[in-house]
Amino acid sequence: MTSLYRKSLWVFHLNTGSCNGCDIEVLNAFTPAQDAERFGVKLVGSPRHADAIALTGPITREALPRVIRALQAVPEPKIVVAIGSCACGGGIWHDSYSVLGGVEKLYKILKKKGIKKPITVFVPGCPPKPEAILYGILLARGMVKQKQKSRIYIESESTELMISKDLIETVKEQVMSSKISRKQVEQIASIVR
Ligand code: SF4
Repeated sequence: MTSLYRKSLWVFHLNTGSCNGCDIEVLNAFTPAQDAERFGVKLVGSPRHADAIALTGPITREALPRVIRALQAVPEPKIVVAIGSCACGGGIWHDSYSVLGGVEKLYKILKKKGIKKPITVFVPGCPPKPEAILYGILLARGMVKQKQKSRIYIESESTELMISKDLIETVKEQVMSSKISRKQVEQIASIVR
């Protein structure tokens, strides 16, 4: 990801239904021990002042209107940092009646409203360590490179593949539409491993 920000990155922290586990780790990333401010990253009190929004927790149906309002208030180009398994995909609450899910479900709603999908960085973990949160924010800031290859899981066949980022969308599409066989998937995996 190239840097969108040549100067400092201001982050608005929004709890969208978190158990507070992720929130304490976000605050930890800004304490003197991790000192996010040395990288020009600081927390701000209003989404109107922010370049990025750090979401923690699954998006609850109760929080949804406020989340949309906060996202709309962040000026373009905006970045979303989805912190924790809940924000990434709903986590253990993904099928709860009161929960919409992770950010991708939020983006479907935004699309219907004609709101552009923001650049998103995913920081999984329950909760993620402050170092991981800082890494995710710096990834958004364009100060570090993506370290790991992306992973995809094929549930039905219990196959885990390590695929380079460029290939992942194409392979995923093909696998989902069953255009390629398991054998072909394994061949691709052995090439990119
Ligand atoms: S990812 Fe874990 S720590 Fe974070 S909000 Fe969800 S349950 Fe809590």
